[in-house]
Amino acid sequence: MIKLCHDIAFLIVVKVIALNVLFGQIIDTFASLRDDKAAIDDDIKNKCFICSITKMQFEKHSEGGMERHIKKDHNMWDYVYYIVHLKSKPTSDLTGTESYILENFIEREIIWIPRMKALCLEGIDLGGDEPSDNNDIEYRFLFMKWNKHIKSIEKSVDTLLEKITKKELEEEEK
Ligand SMILES: [Zn+2]
Repeated sequence: MIKLCHDIAFLIVVKVIALNVLFGQIIDTFASLRDDKAAIDDDIKNKCFICSITKMQFEKHSEGGMERHIKKDHNMWDYVYYIVHLKSKPTSDLTGTESYILENFIEREIIWIPRMKALCLEGIDLGGDEPSDNNDIEYRFLFMKWNKHIKSIEKSVDTLLEKITKKELEEEEK
């Protein structure tokens, strides 16, 4: 009887410890995910997606601030559409600049992206916002995001083309 009680008590203690360790890890993981998300949200709100210049710099030095800059100068969707355009254009029709950008894009080089540069801030000293190694990580992340967008757009274009071809064939049969 004593042995049974001892075994049950031991099992309960081990399970409580194991569960606490597990819950601790789950809570830590959630906290870390929340921190990462907060950092990404802060980046989205306060930095240009293309050039990584902070909102503060635009508000200080540029008319229309960051709102105008991310809509007119560095609209990320313009970049995505441009890459889709380059990928769908026959290689022989590409201009020198276009093939340069496409080659770099395929090689995952970001040299063609205006990094810490914006025409509306030309000649303005951006202080300590010089490119750093951290920006490499940011740009790799940006590149992965773009690739995802581009692939989904390409998929949509392919589906649309398929539908159009099917419809054309159906109409021809009629
Ligand atoms: Zn920008």
